[in-house]
This record gives sequence, C-alpha cells and structure tokens, in this order.
Amino acid sequence: MSGHIKYPEGGQKITVGADGKLQVPDNPILGFVEGDGIGPDITRACLRIWDAAVAKAYGGKRKIHWCELYMGEKAAGLYNGDYFPEETKEAMKDLVVSIKGPLTTPVGGGFRSLNVALRQDLDLYACVRPVRHYPGVPSPLKKPEDVDVVIFRENTEDVYAGIEYQSGTEENKKLARFLREEMGADFFEDAGLGVKPISPFGSKRLIRKAIQYAIDNNRESVTLVHKGNIMKFTEGAFRTWGYELAREEFPDQTITEEELYSTYGGKRPEGKVVIKDRIADIIFQLMLLRPNEFDVLATMNLNGDYLSDAVAAEVGGVGIAPGANISDTVAVFEATHGTAPKYANQDKVNPGSLLFSGVMMLEHIGWKEAAELITVAYGEVVSKKIVTYDFARQIDDANEVSTSGFANAVIDQINGDLDVAKYRRQDQQRQAALEQDRKERERRRVLAPLEEMIASGRIPHLVRDLMNPKPVSVPGDTTVEDAMHLMRDKGISSVFVQPGSDGQWGIMTQRDVLARIVQPSRRPNTVKVSEVCTKPLITVPEDMTLHDCAAKMASSNIRRVAVVDANGEPIGIISDTDIFASVEHFGLPE
Ligand code: NAP
Repeated sequence: MSGHIKYPEGGQKITVGADGKLQVPDNPILGFVEGDGIGPDITRACLRIWDAAVAKAYGGKRKIHWCELYMGEKAAGLYNGDYFPEETKEAMKDLVVSIKGPLTTPVGGGFRSLNVALRQDLDLYACVRPVRHYPGVPSPLKKPEDVDVVIFRENTEDVYAGIEYQSGTEENKKLARFLREEMGADFFEDAGLGVKPISPFGSKRLIRKAIQYAIDNNRESVTLVHKGNIMKFTEGAFRTWGYELAREEFPDQTITEEELYSTYGGKRPEGKVVIKDRIADIIFQLMLLRPNEFDVLATMNLNGDYLSDAVAAEVGGVGIAPGANISDTVAVFEATHGTAPKYANQDKVNPGSLLFSGVMMLEHIGWKEAAELITVAYGEVVSKKIVTYDFARQIDDANEVSTSGFANAVIDQINGDLDVAKYRRQDQQRQAALEQDRKERERRRVLAPLEEMIASGRIPHLVRDLMNPKPVSVPGDTTVEDAMHLMRDKGISSVFVQPGSDGQWGIMTQRDVLARIVQPSRRPNTVKVSEVCTKPLITVPEDMTLHDCAAKMASSNIRRVAVVDANGEPIGIISDTDIFASVEHFGLPE
C-alpha cells in the first residue's frame, strides 16, 4: 500500500477460498476506522477489549494485527479534503474484514452520506443487525429476553438509491411533465420527486442471505417485511420475489406460512424454516407485543432503517446495538449510532455498539471463544451496575464510569474469574424458554388457527389461508344420531359425508338436522346421514381468493363451502364466520 495506510508487519491477510469461505490465519490483519466525534474514544476502548479477549482465549497463539484505515474528518485532513480516499476503499476490499466507528456526514453541498457511499461503492448490499437482550441491560419491555432477532436490511436500493429531483429544477419539471403527460400520473404542482427502485436481483440476493443465515443458525422463520398492500410493484414485488426465491433455491429447507397451516395443520416440520411476510406497520406493533414470534427479518432499505433502530431501542438502544455491512466477500462491521458530537473526546459514552460489532466480527472470522468471553464479561460488568452515563440514567444506584473505565472493568473481568459455564447454562435456559414458547404457539396454531393467524398479524388472501384444514367426514351409512354425537364432541356444525355409489361427496349441517329430522319428527338413530345430507357438495379450489369465495357463498345462499384439492377431495371447510372475522380484523381482502 502507498500513501498513509501501512499494513502491520507480522500480520497476514484474510483471503476468500474458491468455496466463498474465509481463510483466516492466526495473525490476521484487520482494518479499523476510528471514526469522528466519539469514534476515537470508543475505538480506543474496544481495541483494548478485543485484544484482551483474543489473548485470553488463545493464550497468545492468535493475535489480531490492526491496520488503521482512514475515512471521515481524519481522512479529509490527511488526503486533501477527501473523506473517503480510494486507498481506504481498496484496503477494505483487500483485507476482506474491517470495522469502523461512526462518521460525520458533512451537511449540504450535495455530499453523499459517507455510510451510503461505503455501502454502494463496495456493494455491501446487506446490513445485518442482530438484536437481543443481555442480562442487566435496562429495557422498557416487561420481557426483553423475548427479543432475539437478526434484521437483514437491503443496503443499495429503495429511496436510498439517490434518484431524487428537487422541486423547481429543470430535471424535476422534465420528469413531472413526462409523468403527467405520458404516464397519466396526478400529483401536486412543484412536488419534489424521488424514485424507488426495487429489483428482483437486489431483493433476492438480500433474502438469500437471510434464509441461508436462518438455516445455518437453526432459526424458526424468515419474515419478509413490506408495505405491499399499498406499493404493489416495489414493496409487494419484494414479497413475491422472496417467496419465489425460497421455492426455487431452498425447496427442501423451507416451507411457507401458508403451507404451515394448510399442509401441516400448524405443526412446523422439524428443521424447516418458515417463510412468512408481515406488513411494515404491523411488524412494529408485533415486535413490541409478540417479539418472540420473529427470528430473522428481511427488509428493504427504508423500512429496515426505521425497524432496526426501533427494535434496538427495546433492548438498550443504539448505544449497544451492533451491525455489519456485508457483500458476498467483504464485510465492514460498524457502530450503529452516530458521532454524538456533543460528547466527543469526553471519554463518556457507551462503547457497547462498537464492542458487539467486534463480537460479530470475531464470530465472522470463526474466533467464537474470544467472542463468547466478551459477551460473558460484558454481562457480568453490567449486572454489577458498572455502566456508562446512558445506562446509569435508567438504573437505580448505578456505578457510573467513563468509556475507558468501562473497558477496564470488562478487561479485568476477562482476565479474572469468568464463569463461562454458568453463562452457557443461562443461555441454554433462555433457549429452552424460547423453545417452550414455540411449542405453545404451535399448540395454538393447531387448535385455533384463525385466532392465532389474526393475533400473529398474518393477513389471509386465499381460501386456504383461512380454511379449517381438518374436515371431519363420516361414511354415508352412519346414523344421524352418531353423526350428531360426533359433531357435539368436536364442537363443529357440519360433517362431510363420504361418497356412496354415486361417487359424490355431501355435507350434513345442523340446519339439515333441524329441517329433515327434528321438524318432521324422524328418529335420528333410524336415519342414515346419506339420506339427509345436501348433495352435490358446493366446493371451491384452495387457491381461490377470499373475495371470489365470498361471492360464491352469497350467490349460492350457503354459509359454508368445502375446499377441495386438484382431485376434488375435500381438504378443508370455510364458513361465513371465518370470512366475517377476517374482514372485521384486516379489512376487505385484496
Ligand atoms: P447520534 O450521533 O447517534 O447521537 C444521538 C444520541 O444518541 C446522542 O446524543 C446520545 O443520546 C445517544 N448516543 C449515541 N451514541 C451513543 C453512545 N455510544 N453511548 C451513549 N449514547 C449514545 O445521532 P445524531 O446526533 O443524529 O447524529 C450525529 C452525526 O452522526 C451526524 O453527522 C450523522 O450524520 C452521523 N451519523 C453517523 C452514523 C454512522 O456513522 N453509522 C449513524 C448515524 C448518524 P443522549 O443525548 O440522550 O445522551
């Protein structure tokens, strides 16, 4: 390297093998950017902690060789006003793994945000933010331990792509004319205009990473977050492409939430990742009320920006939430907060966000033992109420320390008596509690699928989304009395009647019993269900929309229809009550 960047002697570069996996030597060179504002304070503190953890975990056999890279104000000073020198970009690619502090975005003057520039120039298309709770960290939630998600946010498209035209400019007027005159669009005079590109390529590579992560880490589900009910061809398309990708590339490892209900009766087959989707505004509510139902979230750029900070705030705020920006090969880990200029050089702020970004980095290079040591030591220190000012505000009798004081406490803990086994036991208990919750949800899905679907924010579109998937059927020669007992035992108001010699299915409802048994005073134990049932059965295919199904029920003047598969076999039943409840809760089906 020429210029200001010097690779440290004694270190070796990480490389990427033909299989796409990292080859990490015991003496890797890792890049770091200290950042602006509070960046130098937190970087100094974290470098000491990371080094101490590596030394303790590997007894000197492994060591990181740090290489300073320059971005932001420090770069501008060294490289004649260049905030993101070419040399830094090249080094980040060459070293494969680096970590950075926060950077000031120079205001005005048409500057691209440095973080946006970094993501776009290195094609770091996925922003990965794991959000979970650490014992002792203050939280506004009653059960913060229920939050354990990893958010994969698309980094290169959406309204962040920078295709914007300022009100009053020639370009703006030209585009407005085109939209009005040629595309028939209607909007207010002088509106600023922005373009929101969402492509199958950009969406699928992000969702692929999210699904692969879920498979590798034994996660239960991947949720596609979108506002597709309003923006059908961008946000709605993201959802469609997500399901398409799962079907085409991960057919053996994934099932859709729709299949979970319709094919598997609510029971998740062992090891399969459930692909589901949620409307963006509903996910904010669900992440507060039912966070344990979510594992991996895949989002577009803007939704992900809001969501990752909001979820982080549930378990300690941006002072602790870590993050990474990754491409297929290069990874840049980063603190997720900004430069907090009012605290610059005061040795005051919380180094947690950068610290845990480093923990992610250690896990990324396979140094899990060092990563675990930091996690355990951090938990011990915070549990003793030794915290920086931001947590001290929320904890009674806190022992408030500086950034460097906090780092000292963590390092002392790493080098002292650290009960890693106790931490593992606690983590296992936490996992077991989450597993217990999963089982409980599964029980509810099996017993009351519609209620569970509504409560979990799923929006039904098709007949199979709403149908009761376990229809009860009886042979035609069953007595009406036996069928009545069965209906009462199971709490159902109709049974399917299996075909006789005519080959046709029928249905016997409570109303049939009133009209054809009770009213004419026939004895139910002497009459066969085949004599009182209604034939032929009125059926709908499982992929019919709820809208068309409602129309069919209304025009046939019936309260329930049988749902049949491609062979005409009944596989479920759907009633006017089901559609009523769905419309009442979610509004009219699309
Ligand atoms: P900010 O720097 O994140 O600071 C907002 C507030 O968050 C701070 O005043 C402080 O709250 C709290 N905070 C942030 N980091 C903290 C830490 N390590 N420990 C404890 N509390 C912390 O956001 P901002 O003021 O909007 O942005 C300032 C600059 O940072 C801007 O130039 C912006 O462009 C840039 N920025 C950079 C990045 C990045 O590089 N990734 C991200 C966001 C913003 P209290 O005041 O309540 O103590």
